[in-house]
Amino acid sequence: MAENLQTVQISSTTTSVSQAVVSAKKRSPPAKARTQTAREARDEKINPSTASGGIPNPTAKYLAASDVVPQLLPQPQHLLVIIDLNGTLLFRPSRKQPTKFISRPNTAPFLQYCVDTFSVVIWSSAKLENVTNMCDTILTPNLRKKVIAVWGRNKFGLSKQDFDLRVQCYKRLTTVWNDKGIAISHPEYANGRRWDQTNTVLVDDSLEKGRSEPFNLLEVPEFFGNANEQGRILPQVHDYLNYLSMHSNVSACLRDNPFKPLLPS
Ligand SMILES: [Mg+2]
Repeated sequence: MAENLQTVQISSTTTSVSQAVVSAKKRSPPAKARTQTAREARDEKINPSTASGGIPNPTAKYLAASDVVPQLLPQPQHLLVIIDLNGTLLFRPSRKQPTKFISRPNTAPFLQYCVDTFSVVIWSSAKLENVTNMCDTILTPNLRKKVIAVWGRNKFGLSKQDFDLRVQCYKRLTTVWNDKGIAISHPEYANGRRWDQTNTVLVDDSLEKGRSEPFNLLEVPEFFGNANEQGRILPQVHDYLNYLSMHSNVSACLRDNPFKPLLPS
């Protein structure tokens, strides 16, 4: 997988500003050959402009640091768990009613466990007002206070034009790691420890959104609102987060052994 990612063509950096603001309608959609979730295929998106950072790829440094044998720890390490909303914890049946949604089975105990055990950031590409509204519903006031940050569409570095378009968003983890408010949530911040690829997990239903740090993505099957969802996905994610916390390098661990939920046959 890493070799494939390394050969992905990096979008041109020689594009002029005037070219970058070319009508978004003329930009091509993301390649269909790449794995798309069913929702992404249905709601096709356009690529972000150069002004919005274009399409990211993992750096050579990132890939090298993930290409090591995972080491078991004597005690679990503290993780930064970044959790997506739509398709991961909930399903929004209609874009016209952005605050109406169905929670995935076991969302409440899953969030309770994550917030009590790890440092949690919620990050959705929905507009912040809708993200805030959804978080106020799925999190108790007490849990909400313990969440390190709630991020919405405003945290993707999108140009003004792209912000209002259906562009493919990319959750660059460097954006999270470089955020001072989140950095200081590391329990050993005072000793120089920081969030990085060894201790961060992105829980998301979109492989494409995790493109820049692919081995920090715990990819969950997309949730479509089935209240009787078979497979008990979130309890399996819960167990897998515990498994990852027992290793010294999350990216090495996920690269070696990606999350594969047991689904009913
Ligand atoms: Mg999603």
